[in-house]
Amino acid sequence: ATPMSIMVGTGRAAQLGVLFRRSEALQQLRDARVVAFDKTGTLTQGTPTLTDFILDDDFTHDEVLGLVAAVEARSEHPIAHAIVAAASEAGLPLDEATEFLASAGKGVSGRVKGRWVEVGAMRHMGHVDFSDFGEAIATLAAQGKTPIVVAIDGKPAAAIVIADPIKPTSRAVIAALHEKGVLTAMISGDNRRTAETIAAELGIDRVEAEVLPADKVATIKALREAHGIVAYVGDGINDAPALAEADIGIAVGNGTDAAIESADVILLGGDLRGVLNALAVSRATLRNIA
Ligand code: ADP
Ligand code: MG
Repeated sequence: ATPMSIMVGTGRAAQLGVLFRRSEALQQLRDARVVAFDKTGTLTQGTPTLTDFILDDDFTHDEVLGLVAAVEARSEHPIAHAIVAAASEAGLPLDEATEFLASAGKGVSGRVKGRWVEVGAMRHMGHVDFSDFGEAIATLAAQGKTPIVVAIDGKPAAAIVIADPIKPTSRAVIAALHEKGVLTAMISGDNRRTAETIAAELGIDRVEAEVLPADKVATIKALREAHGIVAYVGDGINDAPALAEADIGIAVGNGTDAAIESADVILLGGDLRGVLNALAVSRATLRNIA
């Protein structure tokens, strides 16, 4: 590609809200075999709400929600925002949490009013017996919702369920990529059943679920070995390393500054149709000069 045609291509893309930060990305995108997406905040809106609360008999709803919100108030995770918002809506005062610990991709813990509160994915809370909640959790996860569990002083206290709606354009974007002969994948730290349900609703080809933030890079490498050039689309929360590892890292708007640094392409406004615009401009540019 000539420098002139690349300049025209990046200019055309910019008019469509697609910023190419590296001109090589415009050339590489044409040959992408796989487009992998982060789930939360990329395919889904990233502003989840609390939908279900399943309580153990030994606890009360307000007691558990209050303790959990106190710990989650110290977390930046979208799940944490949903829980703090629910507690505030219920009119509960926000207590202070000490000894706060956050484990990326697993959950959080802390001490509130002398009690030890742990919140997170059930698969990472093996030291507590949550078998009483197992069936309800499986049912809700099969609806595409995210179940997390709460232990108080080491005892199973509740399962809290969070739902994050799919963005209105996600399904059409996946279908259009398939028409262009591109394989689609979803990479998520979420529960396997939840991730598989969302992927099935969207028609996504491959699902990698329960991936810890540190392992997203290895997942991208594996996709590249299996299929070829990989584009990764993420919102930047937890996924700056994946954006950097992908052959073409595409950050959707409202991503964090760190993620923007490691992205090759930025989609302004968070609309995933920008992925199709980027691909179309890339193919048109290289066709014109080939
Ligand atoms: P994603 O890829 O969906 O952004 P993360 O890697 O951030 O997922 O988190 C994976 C899982 O870890 C969540 O689905 C949840 O079960 C658990 N988790 C992470 N952070 C928190 C938190 N602050 N509170 C409760 N659970 C959490
Ligand atoms: Mg995300």
